[in-house]
Amino acid sequence: MAKLILKNVFKRYENKDKKKKKAVNPLAVNNFSLETEDGEFIGILGPSGCGKTTSLRMIAGLEDITDGEIYIGDMKVNDVDPKDRGIGLAFEDYALYPPLSVYDNIAFNLKAKNVSADDIKKEIDRIAPMLKVEELLEMRPAKLSGGQKQRVNLARAIIRKPKLLLLDEPMSHLDGKMRQVLRIELQRLHKEIKCTTIIVTHDQLEAMSLADRIAIMKDGELQQFGTPLEVYDNPVNEFVAGFIGEPPMNINTVKVEKTDKGTFFKFVDADIAIPVPDRYLPVVSEGMKVRLGVRPTDLMIGDENSKGSDAKISVFENLGEERKISFRVGTEFLTLVTPDEKRYKQGDPVKLEVKADKTHLFDVE
Ligand code: ADP
Ligand code: MG
Repeated sequence: MAKLILKNVFKRYENKDKKKKKAVNPLAVNNFSLETEDGEFIGILGPSGCGKTTSLRMIAGLEDITDGEIYIGDMKVNDVDPKDRGIGLAFEDYALYPPLSVYDNIAFNLKAKNVSADDIKKEIDRIAPMLKVEELLEMRPAKLSGGQKQRVNLARAIIRKPKLLLLDEPMSHLDGKMRQVLRIELQRLHKEIKCTTIIVTHDQLEAMSLADRIAIMKDGELQQFGTPLEVYDNPVNEFVAGFIGEPPMNINTVKVEKTDKGTFFKFVDADIAIPVPDRYLPVVSEGMKVRLGVRPTDLMIGDENSKGSDAKISVFENLGEERKISFRVGTEFLTLVTPDEKRYKQGDPVKLEVKADKTHLFDVE
């Protein structure tokens, strides 16, 4: 086990095309700092191209660092060879060697280090049950299913008792059900080997369900680092708010309006107004436009006596366990999700209520 520390890490890829000297690449990773606890399970989450893989490759030593420092445990690893960093790697495109059996694939790195055949066998006997690959050891990779390949990949990553386990989209090639199975196995594996683990993913559900803490990136920059609950309940900006949660948080422009009934957030592109929660009263003023965030589960349909806003249903969808109700707001929708069984149809007038204490304010203009 070991802590991982990134201090102000930058990465700029050099332009390979010498003719385009003037066009400087933007930073792939921009001032990334992060400090984990020993044995923590960390998710690095963000959309494609935001710098996740680059960050992981720099931690692994497979990519030079343009600037900054990386520590694994007490060791500054900037100039340490990848094989001496004490890391285990499972990358999405980290292919198995087709001519070798599963056993030899798992043993490959140990053989390269001249570990004796006896010791290799002991080590494989120890980890094969953890990843349920005992039955596969004599098989060739071509005969394995996607899920089995990923398990062999993981076995290969943890065989040297790494201090740090680095996983880059380890489940990206699997279908939904298989992902769920492997997710549970990853959780169990992490409890068993207690190794500090970094998983890179663009799937927020995967990060939310696996990680102790999540680092959310955008355009090479860290946006927020916190527990799944923290990033869900207190997103620091609109990007994080929209990226975490499914269906995504509603984020709309509203205008502060004072009436004799109180102060309201009036949706700019719809005839919907919700009371401004007390805690926001000191920071808003009449006429001010703000971005208001409301999770679909924090909107409700009120009864006849409701003081909610009048609204007309635009779309009603029955999703089995829950119902999704959408209200048109300009060219977008305000979406509500409820376990309530009641059915509606398009155009039905309802009272729309909001859990005011669950609203979020962004970018006060
Ligand atoms: P992610 O894993 O989050 O999808 P990457 O780390 O792969 O993102 O990429 C981050 C940025 O760096 C992207 O803009 C990508 O095009 C660029 N990039 C990645 N690898 C290279 C490379 N070898 N050479 C030049 N640019 C690269
Ligand atoms: Mg990637």
